[in-house]
Amino acid sequence: MIIVSACLAGIDCKYNGGNNADDRIIELVSKGQAIPVCPEQLGGCPTPRLKTEIAGGSGADVLDSKCSVVREDGRDMTEEFIKGAQEVLKIAKLLNVKKAILKSKSPSCGYGKVYDGTFSGRLIDGNGVTSELLLRNDIEVISEKH
Ligand code: SF4
Repeated sequence: MIIVSACLAGIDCKYNGGNNADDRIIELVSKGQAIPVCPEQLGGCPTPRLKTEIAGGSGADVLDSKCSVVREDGRDMTEEFIKGAQEVLKIAKLLNVKKAILKSKSPSCGYGKVYDGTFSGRLIDGNGVTSELLLRNDIEVISEKH
C-alpha cells in the first residue's frame, strides 16, 4: 500500500477547488493499491482556500521552527500545515506505508522543489512539510513527475 496526494487521484481538494488528476495515480487507487490523502484538508484548511507558500525556507525549516508557512493574505498557516503532515504520518503508520507519490511543488506535498514564498512562481530546492515529515520517518517519497 502506498499513499498518494488526493488531488492526483482526481479529488477536488486543490486550493482552487479543482484537482490535478493523473491517470496513473487514479489507476493505483482504483485497484486498491494506494490511499489518497490531502494534508492541507487534514490540517484544517478549507477548500477552496487562498494560495499558501513556505516563506524563506523549505518544509525541513518549517519542521525545525526556522520559518513559517504563510497564506497570500499574510495569515500564518504553519500550525495547520504541521498538523496535516502529522495526520498523514499517522495514516501511513496505521497502514504500514513505506512509499508515497506526492504532488510536485506544493508547500505540503512537494518533493525536491517548492515555491519560494514570494507567490511569483519561483522555485527553490527543498521539500514540502508533509514530504519532509514522511522522509524523516523512513517513508520513501517521490513526485508524480518521476
Ligand atoms: S495538499 Fe497535497 S493533496 Fe492537498 S491539494 Fe495540495 S498537493 Fe494536493
